Amino acid sequence: MNSKNAIVIGGSMAGLITARVLSAYFEHVTVIERDQFSNGPAPRKGTPQSYHLHGLLAKGGELLDHYFPGIGDELVAKGAVRGDMGRMMHWYLDGGYRTKFDWQRLGISMSRPLLEYVVRSRVAAIKNIHILTNIDVNELITSLDHSRVLGVRIEDRNNDLRQVKDLHADFVVDCSGRGSASPKWLAQLGYAQAPENKIEINVGYATRMYQRRPDQTPFLYMITPAAPNDKRLGVLFPIEGDRWIVSMGGYLGNHCPTDPQGFLEYARGLPAPDIYNLLKDSEPLSDIRPHKYMANLRHHYEKLTYFPEGYLVLGDAICSFNPVYGQGMTSAALQADALNGLLKSAKSLDGIWRPFFKQAAKVVDIPWQLAVGTDFAYPETKGVKPAGTDFINNYVAKVHRASHNDPVVYAAFLSCMNLLAPPASLFKPNILFRVLRDDWQRKRQIVPQTQLQPASA
Ligand SMILES: Cc1cc2nc3c(=O)[nH]c(=O)nc-3n(C[C@H](O)[C@H](O)[C@H](O)COP(=O)(O)OP(=O)(O)OC[C@H]3O[C@@H](n4cnc5c(N)ncnc54)[C@H](O)[C@@H]3O)c2cc1C
Repeated sequence: MNSKNAIVIGGSMAGLITARVLSAYFEHVTVIERDQFSNGPAPRKGTPQSYHLHGLLAKGGELLDHYFPGIGDELVAKGAVRGDMGRMMHWYLDGGYRTKFDWQRLGISMSRPLLEYVVRSRVAAIKNIHILTNIDVNELITSLDHSRVLGVRIEDRNNDLRQVKDLHADFVVDCSGRGSASPKWLAQLGYAQAPENKIEINVGYATRMYQRRPDQTPFLYMITPAAPNDKRLGVLFPIEGDRWIVSMGGYLGNHCPTDPQGFLEYARGLPAPDIYNLLKDSEPLSDIRPHKYMANLRHHYEKLTYFPEGYLVLGDAICSFNPVYGQGMTSAALQADALNGLLKSAKSLDGIWRPFFKQAAKVVDIPWQLAVGTDFAYPETKGVKPAGTDFINNYVAKVHRASHNDPVVYAAFLSCMNLLAPPASLFKPNILFRVLRDDWQRKRQIVPQTQLQPASA
């Protein structure tokens, strides 16, 4: 393949990882970002989610380390907190705490702005990548018959002239997130609309930072709801700068208030006391920031028969998941990795959209199944429920309860949740046996019902 120029629309996580992948196959890669970046880690307008807690799944961490060797150590050097995920997580759900064990996989906890800043710095250091900021991509430039994308029309906001310019490229990848204009642009060019799947869940978050004192152990605290009765959750992670970040929220309108008293009361109302106990004695360092997330949204580009050559869509622009499950960044990394696999063996870019969207759909299928499957445990969730969801949810509830006592079951669940193993792995005979044995014993009150107290590290 002999290609010169690639353009990536959007300089957030999907855009940055995609630029890194493309830099191995193109002479020049240009990332075009609407926002102005600051010189350090900071939230920004184009990614309002950056104020909120972001967990990086193990698969995402693995891929980041592959494309940016040593990035985990670099994050830790900048204050991120690393530890065995089986020991570090203090996780309450469904009447008890999950057991603690040595999973022998390290998780890393930091703010989203720090992660994005470190990834961006790595990308900016790659010689053939240029990051342009304060620039909107407003349109695609195509061949006369619209069969090929030839570049993008941009509006440069770096001076008062707000110049509109055309930038030409052999390949353009839209990583502009959930609000991507690709559906609109493609419709304007005469292409059919990709089928859309929307699962409405009406989640409302509120997030605040707190000082982390030296006497406080940096656990990852999670209190997650047992559907369909509980609808509220709280997650509190240690991050750089000796801080805690806490995001609390609820499904289906059970949103967390943003006034300090209401925020604390919400923590007190969670099914376990850990987060409230920690917050009530800690010093707040920030305002309380809300975020509403109405629906999981997926565009099935893989179902299209026609699509312009030289163009792809990737990341949240393909699929945005209920953020409660922390899958978006890992899904973006997996999609970029699939693109890498295709580019490695491609002789030409023509037609690459077909296998790419097929592979991206496969990648997205698993987190989508996990996210919307769990969301449909609430009967009020709106959308098309995949067949078999109730059966799977019933079994997964048993998996959750078994993980209060059984590290083998919990390890299988963690692998699945971290996108290291497919959901079907929870049905392997040894796991199925342990889950059903736990359920049988619980019903006969043969085993201790649950870990009612969190185990210490
Ligand atoms: C509240 C919340 C919490 C979340 N928590 C987690 C979590 O715990 N773990 C996790 O993995 N994921 C989480 N996510 C999802 C995660 O933030 C995204 O999946 C991730 O940022 C990858 O998205 P992206 O790069 O595709 O799009 P985005 O992050 O939305 O970025 C799109 C970028 O494109 C730019 N842009 C948009 N339009 C244009 C244009 N026309 N021209 C130029 N630039 C443009 C924007 O400014 C932005 O920088 C969460 C999301 C939310 C909302």
